[in-house]
Amino acid sequence: MSFYPKEHILRQMPSEVPSVYLTFDDGPCDFTNHVLDALARHNAKATFFVIGQNAEKFPGIISRIIHDGHSIFSHSIDHNYSNYFKSEDSVSIWIKKSIDNLESLTGKNYPIFRPPAGIINPPVARSAKTNGVQLILWNHRFFDSIFELTIKKISKYLSKAKNGDIILLHDHQKIKNQSSFLISLDYLLTELKNKKLKLEKLNF
Ligand SMILES: [Zn+2]
Repeated sequence: MSFYPKEHILRQMPSEVPSVYLTFDDGPCDFTNHVLDALARHNAKATFFVIGQNAEKFPGIISRIIHDGHSIFSHSIDHNYSNYFKSEDSVSIWIKKSIDNLESLTGKNYPIFRPPAGIINPPVARSAKTNGVQLILWNHRFFDSIFELTIKKISKYLSKAKNGDIILLHDHQKIKNQSSFLISLDYLLTELKNKKLKLEKLNF
């Protein structure tokens, strides 16, 4: 049974100019600056799905993300999975508050939401539909919030990279994985350019 029109859940976004959309979840945090440095070196644009509580702690990084020309959308206020067990009304408030919270920091109100862990249960689906909120997921991920991101994993993806891919990454990394993440990210950015795939932000 489908609770939600599929076209309102975005997983890919093919464009006229072949492009790939890197998205970074769970920030901002200090490490986000290293990700922004890498993007700047490659003249790449990306999208940050931020957690409201982190955004409040790092307003300077939010400003830099905007200044560098990337997109910012909501990934909830608290990344708390207990919200998935609440009523549709509570879920509606949870989603709306996170979008309003981000508006107070960025001055822009985007009815866009990426649910934590990409879970779209019936209350999330229905409340997003009722409130006209676009849900954005991805079509490729590396599970890099748990496991180390490696060149091997990037190479495997590159063999099938295509126009419209929305890639899930995390700018919140365990300290032990941070250096390999940056090396792998640099490789990904280099090789996508070599494949003539533009690094674009999600823009609505
Ligand atoms: Zn997340």
